[in-house]
Amino acid sequence: MARSTADELLELERKQRTIDRAPFRNLAIKDATVLDTIEGRMPCERCYASRKYFCYNCFLPVIDQIYFPRVKLPIKIDIVKHRRETAGKSTAVHAVILAPEDVKIYTYPKFPEIDREETVLIFPSESAIRVEDLFKEVKDEEGQDSTILRRIKSELPVKRAIFIDSTWQQTKEIYKDVRFRGLRCVILKSRISQFWRNQKKCPRWYLATIEAIHQFLVELHTCAFGAIENYTDLDDPVVNREQNYVMLNEESSDMYLATELRYNGQYDNLLYFFKYMYEKIHTLYDHDKLLAYKRPLL
Ligand SMILES: [Zn+2]
Repeated sequence: MARSTADELLELERKQRTIDRAPFRNLAIKDATVLDTIEGRMPCERCYASRKYFCYNCFLPVIDQIYFPRVKLPIKIDIVKHRRETAGKSTAVHAVILAPEDVKIYTYPKFPEIDREETVLIFPSESAIRVEDLFKEVKDEEGQDSTILRRIKSELPVKRAIFIDSTWQQTKEIYKDVRFRGLRCVILKSRISQFWRNQKKCPRWYLATIEAIHQFLVELHTCAFGAIENYTDLDDPVVNREQNYVMLNEESSDMYLATELRYNGQYDNLLYFFKYMYEKIHTLYDHDKLLAYKRPLL
């Protein structure tokens, strides 16, 4: 038993080294070399502080919109940020800049309004459920699987998700707030963080906020509508409309779903600045010497 756990760990570390060599390879992220052409800094239009790409206090870009993509999200995202979390270090601001229509940041103790029916909190509490479990909860009157019905109506089981943006210690503190009580918690699938900032006593499973938001949306979308495999290999994601229908249920062959709904990288651009900064850091420092990657895997 102990032997097999050790083997699994070795296998996991081997896989991780492969991912670490090119962590964003299978994602459809817009090329960001245009950011290299931006010289100097610009004043933020609200607070006049001098900034490079965006103001991390006002959550506003200081560069023109041609320099970065816009992402439309399928649900609303609220981020509750610890007031002591150093603003310049947080990746939460990336989400507001790239998806301004759908993302809001609240500095704790400010808080979003919560509709408990439609909202989930992304937090690994003891009673946290997985994303796929969100699809199992409701059955219609005839007892039919709600996942299939939702797919037909292109609906998702939640309308809003809350993320806590702070260090792991502060996150646990904010989670205790009574306003979170009774809210369903969701735990994400294990994914190893590519965040380069070392957090003390924090395993590499603990994701940067922007990584967690991307991970959650991909899981939610894939559970609802499926995904196109290796979508970055396709020239045009919607290749052949005739063939691109997927059968939802083997017993009811009349139910089909257009490929356009399947995941083909719709939210990958949320990692636009993250990938760019990751690559910048890695041209400056050797990956193996960066302390953040020496964090324990488990
Ligand atoms: Zn500002």
